[in-house]
Amino acid sequence: MSRHECRACRGQAGHRVLDLGDQPASDSFPRWDDPGPDPVYPLRMWLCSRCGLAQLMEDPTVPEEPKGAEPAALVEQAGDAVRQVCAAGLLPAGAQVAEYGSPHGGSWLGLLAQRGAAPVYPPAEADVIIDCFGMMHAADQAAALDERAARLVPGGILLMQYHSLNTIVRSGQWNALRHGHYAYYSTTALTKILGAAGFTPRTAWQFGLYGGTVLLAASRDGGRGAADRAAAAPDESVRDLLEAEASTGVLDPNAVAGLQHDVQARVRGLHGWLAAERAAGRSVLGYGAASRAVALLRKAEVDHDLLPAIADASPAKQGLRMPGSRIPVISPREMVERQPDAVLLFVADLMAEVRTAYPEIEAANGRWVIADELGTASASHQPHFA
Ligand SMILES: [Zn+2]
Repeated sequence: MSRHECRACRGQAGHRVLDLGDQPASDSFPRWDDPGPDPVYPLRMWLCSRCGLAQLMEDPTVPEEPKGAEPAALVEQAGDAVRQVCAAGLLPAGAQVAEYGSPHGGSWLGLLAQRGAAPVYPPAEADVIIDCFGMMHAADQAAALDERAARLVPGGILLMQYHSLNTIVRSGQWNALRHGHYAYYSTTALTKILGAAGFTPRTAWQFGLYGGTVLLAASRDGGRGAADRAAAAPDESVRDLLEAEASTGVLDPNAVAGLQHDVQARVRGLHGWLAAERAAGRSVLGYGAASRAVALLRKAEVDHDLLPAIADASPAKQGLRMPGSRIPVISPREMVERQPDAVLLFVADLMAEVRTAYPEIEAANGRWVIADELGTASASHQPHFA
């Protein structure tokens, strides 16, 4: 068996910190009448001992998730981020901006154009590169960063946004691990990887998206002015992040492997809650046929007997079922018509949006329950656990 080689620094020393067993490709939704079984593949996270990058070990799948409607929370955060970047003076008027986006959507170019930036496309050089959940989709992290560096003028700015490993570990978000997402960045590891590629982290912003998302600005070394050289050091916002991550232990395989213990707590919490609702004669439907729900449902051994359907706003997912289970994806309209006693929400960031979009649920005395909170400390004081 060949050893895993780091996707960023090519080091071979490291630890397997999370093993979710065999899982289906989380973004290939079969037709609802496809009897399966769906092919499964190992799903494991590895932490590099040299550069500290947490990463997907193997990925035999290359499908793309059907693009869905962009959650309002994501759109709002993008607007907020662009405002802050502009206020920090990192997006001067007329700047040429290139984007490396996520295959799941969410471009910032429209917002940036409103601010006077000029989008440029390969192979043109850029003053600023935006990478919003983009690079995590690259199997070869070193090559992806080299590609970005080659497009950026000396002294230019790389803006990289990522769901932080610090959040994943602190909040027990083990089901962030999925095929097709190759890197799970801590600011600590990213600082090392960027440094090796000729970048200096400068400043960072934090957002509540996904429980904790970081936007890091790094400058490409080689700016000529004295001001470039003097300013090319991480500021307090970056130092604060590094300090917080040191206290979590994002480079410590034992600390990151705490995610494996969170798996048991979460799957027991989810299965127990659904079984209790069924025993009490209450109907439950899901909302958000997200990739992160796939491994969670399978680990919790939840199928359509416990959760008869999951609603999703994306028309592309209608008529399909969840990978690895018999749970069909239904339209939000059908969810409302069924008048469930509870809706289990698999994407916590959607809470405000779904309560506004589907007031019928609460009007009929139904309630929204966040799946990620079942089996965690924040759920333990809910009445059903008393
Ligand atoms: Zn490495």
